Amino acid sequence: MAMVLAGFAATASATMGGAPTPAGAPPPPPSRGGAPDPVPSAGSTLTLTSASTSPRKSFYYGVRYPRLTYTIGSSQAQNDLRVDVVNATGETVKSFYRNDIAPNVADSIRWDGTTSEDRPASNGRYSFRVLPQNGGPAAPRTLPRSRPAGSSSAEPLSLSFSLYGYAFPILGAHDFGGAAGRFGASRAGHTHEGQDVMADCGTPLIAARGGRVQYSGYQGAAGNYIVIDGRGTSYDMGYMHLLEPSPLQAGMTVHTGEPIGVVGQTGDATACHLHFEIWTAPGWYEGGSPIDPLPYLEKWDSYS
Ligand SMILES: [Zn+2]
Repeated sequence: MAMVLAGFAATASATMGGAPTPAGAPPPPPSRGGAPDPVPSAGSTLTLTSASTSPRKSFYYGVRYPRLTYTIGSSQAQNDLRVDVVNATGETVKSFYRNDIAPNVADSIRWDGTTSEDRPASNGRYSFRVLPQNGGPAAPRTLPRSRPAGSSSAEPLSLSFSLYGYAFPILGAHDFGGAAGRFGASRAGHTHEGQDVMADCGTPLIAARGGRVQYSGYQGAAGNYIVIDGRGTSYDMGYMHLLEPSPLQAGMTVHTGEPIGVVGQTGDATACHLHFEIWTAPGWYEGGSPIDPLPYLEKWDSYS
């Protein structure tokens, strides 16, 4: 019975795949690194017969982890494999050990974007690489690609994807407005502590970086606002003037790219826009300082 239940759980997880989860729902868990087989073995004619990776673009601590689904062909019934995540310069940033993998049965790996040192991986292109454990880390060899005999239209092997640390927070048309919306612009009695990004009211907002919701509420100047303590960073990020209170409450976990509300003009605002702040450690009104978010926003905007 336990076997049957385990089978069902595996099926449900596989069906969900890397699909976006509803706001507030945790994404499917990442794969564990595992441990190598003490006596690794693999078929002498090991091949990679299929490989697909989705999504092609992911975000650190995001709602969709990069996921590889692959199938091997082998002369052996059980194969001890290693699946590496390789960066653009060919360096392995994370390895997963998969023991006793059968040929012609799909296996999958879901990577959470952390390196083997448990640090967020840097922005860039990555690729999964499947190898036999007995090949040894010193002499890695990619499995030879195979195609069904006589077929020229085999599914191409898809192993590469991009990973980014941050998402652009507005899902829709936007612009960075004029000088008055810049960080440091003069205001009555203070200076502007964020960057205004102009967008229509109702445009969806997502977390640029997931983490823990530090504040979610209403304040006279900020209107409906939310502050998120970015996971794996020293930054807190604030999103102000939301049309409605964010569905997220203080203390909740939010993932990169997860909806946090929509653009509005609540509080001290004369047009629909997102007022976005980035604060250094130890955090927003906890002793940190606001920094100019525009270079960050422009960078995120260029790829997401
Ligand atoms: Zn502003």
